[in-house]
Amino acid sequence: MSTIIAFISRIDDDDQRKWLRALQDALPAHRIVTIDEMSDDDKHRAEVAIVANPDPLDLSRLPNLKWVQSLWAGVERMVGELPDTTFSIVRMTDPQMAATMAEAVLAWTLYLHRDMPLYHSQQNQKLWRQHDVPLPGERTVGLLGLGHLGQRAAAKLVGQDFHVCGWRRSACHVDGVQTFYGDGGLDEMLAQTDILICLLPLTDQTRGLLNAKRLAMLPQGAALINFARGPIIDDSALIESLNNGHLRHAVLDVFTTEPLPAQSPYWDHPNVTVLPHISAPTNRTTASAIAADNIETFLKTGSIPAGVDRETGY
Ligand code: NAP
Repeated sequence: MSTIIAFISRIDDDDQRKWLRALQDALPAHRIVTIDEMSDDDKHRAEVAIVANPDPLDLSRLPNLKWVQSLWAGVERMVGELPDTTFSIVRMTDPQMAATMAEAVLAWTLYLHRDMPLYHSQQNQKLWRQHDVPLPGERTVGLLGLGHLGQRAAAKLVGQDFHVCGWRRSACHVDGVQTFYGDGGLDEMLAQTDILICLLPLTDQTRGLLNAKRLAMLPQGAALINFARGPIIDDSALIESLNNGHLRHAVLDVFTTEPLPAQSPYWDHPNVTVLPHISAPTNRTTASAIAADNIETFLKTGSIPAGVDRETGY
């Protein structure tokens, strides 16, 4: 039986059209529509919706929602805006996204490992100077977060012979990775990390995690990559650490305000690489297939995929 499924988002019209087409292709037996195209009866019957940064008011127009399928992996905004709703929030976990993120992690780790920012600056000065090239095994890459994305990234780095460490909340073995837990574990990992990569969700516990004290625990000359969310880093502390030379470089893909405002000191900082949130974009085709699979399973069996834990926020 064909079901009417709401697609609720605050993305721009062009993007919305592309998503509607991709989702409709993935769910040909059903009709994917915006909430304005739904009758009162459709809204009353809706138990599932597909969302991308939805307006909470739109969601409140579907009184019998059991769950929403987010097209994004990071759902902190929705969790913050919908604290009291009873429906489950299912975030996007797409192996293709993990592969794309792992590729970005490897690319920018090599950028730092092979001192590309330094050689770029030397070229600008017409300076011919060779520096030692450490072996990958002599570099410790520390991952903050060993979840869906972090584990795939870790495997990629292990495959390139880096010494890989990872920090997470729960104790769990990850092949080839030295793992750390809790505040004490974080301090221990930071003290030995040459390249720190953030792949944590933004929650009450991780907001401002990388503050002046923790950045100072990194060895002199360490570098940082943030592919997670801007507010996990204390921006003033990071700028100070780059200015005083404690950190040698930061690759930043995510920011507290996006797009990054023109007056941000990051834009002109010689030791910062600014990326416009492109480390692992959601792929419309693969994400639509995953959303479709989850929804078909629900419509056939009533089973809802594991949702965000409202206590931990991820
Ligand atoms: P995930 O599967 O939920 O993994 C999160 C990891 O962080 C887990 O290992 C978790 O520990 C750990 N963690 C959470 N809170 C912690 C805490 N307080 N202390 C220590 N560890 C903690 O999430 P994911 O799919 O890997 O995605 C991670 C984040 O990447 C997303 O939330 C999103 O913000 C960001 N992201 C960015 C882009 C981009 O293009 N820049 C794209 C996709 C996603 P446990 O394993 O113990 O639970």
